[in-house]
Amino acid sequence: MTIKILPPQLANQIAAGEVVERPASVVKELIENSLDAGASQIDIDIEKGGSKLIRIRDNGSGIAEQELVLALSRHATSKISDLNDLEQITSLGFRGEALASISSVSRLTLTSKPPGQVAAWQAQAEGRDMAVTVKPAAHPEGTSIEVVDLFFNTPARRKFLRTDKTEFTHIDELIKRLALSRFDVSWQLNHNGQSVRRLPRATTEQARMKRVAMLCGRAFAEQAAYIENSYGALKLSGWLLSPQACQSQAGCQYSYVNGRMMRDKLLNHAIRQAYGERINAEQQPGFVLYLQIPATEVDVNVHPAKHEVRFHQARLVHDFVVSALSDALNQLTGEPASAPSQ
Ligand code: ADP
Ligand code: MG
Repeated sequence: MTIKILPPQLANQIAAGEVVERPASVVKELIENSLDAGASQIDIDIEKGGSKLIRIRDNGSGIAEQELVLALSRHATSKISDLNDLEQITSLGFRGEALASISSVSRLTLTSKPPGQVAAWQAQAEGRDMAVTVKPAAHPEGTSIEVVDLFFNTPARRKFLRTDKTEFTHIDELIKRLALSRFDVSWQLNHNGQSVRRLPRATTEQARMKRVAMLCGRAFAEQAAYIENSYGALKLSGWLLSPQACQSQAGCQYSYVNGRMMRDKLLNHAIRQAYGERINAEQQPGFVLYLQIPATEVDVNVHPAKHEVRFHQARLVHDFVVSALSDALNQLTGEPASAPSQ
């Protein structure tokens, strides 16, 4: 065997293997881009569970005509430029790989008009060399990305897609989690031309509770207490279900670190520990929790899909979460709050 450089499309398809597991992963990457672009409205159209079409439309800052080609190239990002930036990430994206990866395993069209640019432009990447063609288009301020025929050229991946219904359930679940992280954004989700979710911007306390009730159920909204606690620069807020209200079926169990949704072992462990013996083995905790921590105290560059983070002071974060939640649960169950740690 001789050593050779892989053609760009193949290299991108290999990278896609890490982040583009299924239609919901495409939706996640595209929406994170819309949020990073400061969008306040995000519309999502899905056909056939996302295997036929995923279209995300936002009213964010857009991509300039002369940058459309770059946006589709690998390792091209507007979000970081040096190691210092990497060590204090405040955007959701930073790897510059999503659009290149997704466009290597689908037919992708990117249409955008930044405010101030006279007309909208559209880009498409095709073929093994992923050459991008750019042409004028009609589009309001913001960006639309259409992903058609996901995995059409990677049959092994396509074979792993579940039924349209199952794939759509993953997308809907994702939208739920994202919508709970950004109450200031208006969301619309359609499947096969039918409206599935319509969540207007929620800027008042009442509107936020309405959204929580819509996404986590009325019972959760009524039986969860709002909590807020801080320790130095660490801040924990959100909703916590009282132990008596915890059911055997898992309801909302969502946690976020600096606005990023997480499946973090350390947080889950801390939450379980705080509930401790207040719930029995059949009961599931219920929570929507937001942890804020200085960006320099956490490494988000651990997992390509960024489902996990690494805390520099893991023990401190863990103990803070346990103690903040234990105090809140004590109040919910009428027990005295634990003594403040010295
Ligand atoms: P990353 O998000 O890691 O930077 P992506 O491949 O997801 O990498 O996107 C590449 C670049 O394209 C982004 O850095 C951003 O400048 C631009 N971009 C992508 N989607 C949007 C969008 N919806 N609105 C504005 N700019 C976008
Ligand atoms: Mg991105």
